[in-house]
Amino acid sequence: GEPGLTEVRVATMADKPVRRILAVGSGKGGVGKSTLAANLAVALSRLGRKVGLVDADIYGPSQARLLGTEGQRPVAHESRLVPVASAFGVPVLSMANLLEPGQAIAWRGPMVAGALTKMLEGHWDNAEIVVVDLPPGTGDVQLTMLQKFKPAGAVIVSTPQDLALMDATRAVELFQKSGVPIVGVVENMAGYACPHCGEVSDPFGAGGAEAAARDMGQAFLGRIPLDIAIRRDSDAGKPPAAGEGSQAEAFAALAAKVSD
Ligand code: ADP
Repeated sequence: GEPGLTEVRVATMADKPVRRILAVGSGKGGVGKSTLAANLAVALSRLGRKVGLVDADIYGPSQARLLGTEGQRPVAHESRLVPVASAFGVPVLSMANLLEPGQAIAWRGPMVAGALTKMLEGHWDNAEIVVVDLPPGTGDVQLTMLQKFKPAGAVIVSTPQDLALMDATRAVELFQKSGVPIVGVVENMAGYACPHCGEVSDPFGAGGAEAAARDMGQAFLGRIPLDIAIRRDSDAGKPPAAGEGSQAEAFAALAAKVSD
């Protein structure tokens, strides 16, 4: 069993195997939500779970870069998208795999919802868990997710600062109101990992997200330090969770909490 993750059947795929959608959300952008979604998916895969990843950040897709699948195109099979394979055991669908590099999207809400539906209705038949990297905030994509593809659980990412935490609280409320269980809160960029000695210091203070999670009655899943190696490897399409060392261990610890 998986406490916090109840089983759901994807409404439009009633004849397909049961799978769980795990939404990764945040109140605001730039807090590391996409980084966490990618690395959580990779870490879950390393734990032996069959994982897929949908990049629901339609206007700012980053999962092709993060999983090193840039330039790969998904094909359609029986008018459903076949996810692109990555080198890390996590197949992915992202608008970044569907657009030309640098191509901008100026879409209205219904088109965005249509793109999200296409990706979520892709060939995920082998995935036990589909991690969904949501756009920040509480807009059209979140509403489509909640109405049409209700997640089995949501992980909320925040940085330690007060303003980020206030926005994270709003994201938690949106899921709660819709009956989506919050698996827990992750604090990202929590402290600074010295590139020379690895020691973590706390320029922004520490414990803010943990206290905020407690105030909301939610689980605190752990913290990921601000670490140059995470930014560097992520930009290079090598998810730190796929490597060795303290970064991989931090993501593995989060995945274990989400998965058990
Ligand atoms: P979001 O999805 O919330 O907009 P991203 O995941 O795109 O945020 O992260 C924003 C930037 O911060 C990226 O350049 C990413 O590599 C970097 N980043 C995210 N988390 C960390 C971290 N723990 N340490 C260092 N850099 C990070």
